[in-house]
Amino acid sequence: MYDFREIPVIDNHCHPYLFEVNPARYEPLDTFVGTRDGSAESIAHRDAMIYQRWATRELAAFLGCAPTIEAVAKARAAVGDEGTYVKRLFASEGVQGLVIDTGYPQPPVDMTRFRERVPTTLYPVYRIEPPIKALLDRRVSDFSEFVRAFEDGIRRAIREEGFIAVKSIIAYRTGLDLDLANEPDGMGAAGLAMALAEPDRMMASKALRDHLIFRVLRLCRDLDVSFHIHTGIGDPDIVLARCNPALLNETLKQPQYRETRVVLIHCYPYVEEASWMASALPNVWMDLSEGVPFALVATDRIFEKALDLAPFNRIFFGSDAFSGPEQTWLAAKVSKQALARVLGTLHERGYITAGEGPEIAEAILIGNAKRMYGA
Ligand SMILES: [Zn+2]
Repeated sequence: MYDFREIPVIDNHCHPYLFEVNPARYEPLDTFVGTRDGSAESIAHRDAMIYQRWATRELAAFLGCAPTIEAVAKARAAVGDEGTYVKRLFASEGVQGLVIDTGYPQPPVDMTRFRERVPTTLYPVYRIEPPIKALLDRRVSDFSEFVRAFEDGIRRAIREEGFIAVKSIIAYRTGLDLDLANEPDGMGAAGLAMALAEPDRMMASKALRDHLIFRVLRLCRDLDVSFHIHTGIGDPDIVLARCNPALLNETLKQPQYRETRVVLIHCYPYVEEASWMASALPNVWMDLSEGVPFALVATDRIFEKALDLAPFNRIFFGSDAFSGPEQTWLAAKVSKQALARVLGTLHERGYITAGEGPEIAEAILIGNAKRMYGA
């Protein structure tokens, strides 16, 4: 009953990319899972993923070519001016902006070139792990100096460099089970000494990293920006046993952190836990990128579970696009279809009125991002 194709979107989480268009194999069709090299085994692995088959057909329809990986790669290599192509691609799904985590890939992508190739509104997000690594690599052992440099970097990013939010991937480092015992400065200082004593053992930096997260939570509140925290699955080096967003509950329920707007990024497969947190805590939002679009088969379930408990003004559409504009485009397309089905069912059951369907879809696809980032 619903058709949300005309609703525009802002992608709440993606990354800059500067791929060379390869006429043999079009990399932005790849999923983030599986090995990404060009060996026959890894290509066979990716080609047996339903996402990839579907993405190939969708893109073939857009490019007007045969629905094969080879034909899509060839047609994509022949599109001509990249900026013009991306404009047309984004216009077809109403993509109006990208909230972009510039911390991946490393070394960082040249944002001037990226802006030329991807002409849409960008909302850059400042990732804290590269500066932590730089300070540890420089072996800054004075705790006050470490903290000053770290926090000044965040202040400068927000006030002078155009960043609109701060991001952490501590789930890839020491996990989301933050220990509140690491809050005091004394523990931060001891944590820095431990991290420097064992630079090759990641868990040696846990006390320091926990301590810095507590600082960033306070700083984001003072700077009035949101703090994005990676949760759920990711690349294979994720600390898999410690990426459940529920692990953050102990911290986020503390009175001193309740005024910081925290966005749980990805959440999948812990969408139910995140939905509960977004309903139980006044300061938690959830983002559905990565599960959408790469766990394609789960798309309807992801939106359903997010809506289990979370108010719909706490849920963001996102893609986790990391290697091409098509990933945002595919995520927008499948999200509009899934939301039409999911909200249509809720209306049939009498849970929402006919008019509430578009209101909810608009909030998730673009409205919540506009409000969060002042877009
Ligand atoms: Zn990401």
